[in-house]
Amino acid sequence: MVEKMNSIWFDGKLVPWDEANVHVLTHCLHYGTGVFEGIRAYECVDGTSCVFRLKEHVHRLFNSAKTMLMEIGYSEAEMCEAIVATLKDNKMKAGYIRPLSFIGAGSMGVHPNTNPVHTIIATWPWGAYLGEDALEKGIRVKTSSFTRHNVNSMMTKAKVSGNYVNSVLAKREVVQDGYDEALMLDTNGFVSEASGENIFIVRNGEIKTTPPTSILQGITRDSLIPVARELGFTVVEQQFTRDELYGADEAFFTGTAAELTPIREVDNRVIGEGHAGPVAKKLQKEFFKVVTGANPKYESWLYRYSF
Ligand SMILES: *Cc1c(COP(=O)(O)O)cnc(C)c1O
Repeated sequence: MVEKMNSIWFDGKLVPWDEANVHVLTHCLHYGTGVFEGIRAYECVDGTSCVFRLKEHVHRLFNSAKTMLMEIGYSEAEMCEAIVATLKDNKMKAGYIRPLSFIGAGSMGVHPNTNPVHTIIATWPWGAYLGEDALEKGIRVKTSSFTRHNVNSMMTKAKVSGNYVNSVLAKREVVQDGYDEALMLDTNGFVSEASGENIFIVRNGEIKTTPPTSILQGITRDSLIPVARELGFTVVEQQFTRDELYGADEAFFTGTAAELTPIREVDNRVIGEGHAGPVAKKLQKEFFKVVTGANPKYESWLYRYSF
């Protein structure tokens, strides 16, 4: 359950949490015509707070809206300010942030016509997405029978609400079977990503991640690549198969919600030593330094705020 907070930003105003409601004929509710983001704020080592890569997340929200031919009606800078205002109103020194722009009520056909576009920003405390244990011990993953979107049926680069039916199907399928997360393959059978995370593998000290073709190009992924290179690792963006993953020394997922979650098992095959490996641990440690302002090299990625 999401913890109830004080307010939600709704079309330019902070409204009480329980009053942030929509009409049942909201277009998005019927056809999935919304675009959203998942962002995290962290408490920094110096006592201030920061939103990690806020501008990049907001920029991606606008690109998702562009793909959907939706006009958000605020500038990117205004959205960044609104996000920080929402965090402050809810006294959030750290937490998860969910902006959503969606097509509202009016026409009921598939064509949204001139229906209004609404925007909300919610924030709530969210610990480790896949469980506290997961960050240390790693998770058990199963390949889903559901294929990730073909690039020409759903726009994989856009975080569009309707796209997540595919993720929900995959996630429920594997959770029902006792696994923690679903691995999804692309339409050619190569490894794509998880229901809401990108994937990396490590083999002989070399790090590999899927190219951005069939995936949601994660900002965590895009941040981790230069961080890993800075630490001296070789990182390549290359397609790989399920059996290459089975034989990897290490594997892990990345995402705003999941942060860096090691994978300890895929399709009942133990990966490496069956817990977080040395590369994943090293990257995880560095990642948490970066997001909490403990590495000045990446200061430009932090949108600082304080109370
Ligand atoms: C949001 C998301 C990710 C991770 O993206 P981040 O920007 O790192 O949070 C990966 N895959 C899917 C399908 C997603 O929706």
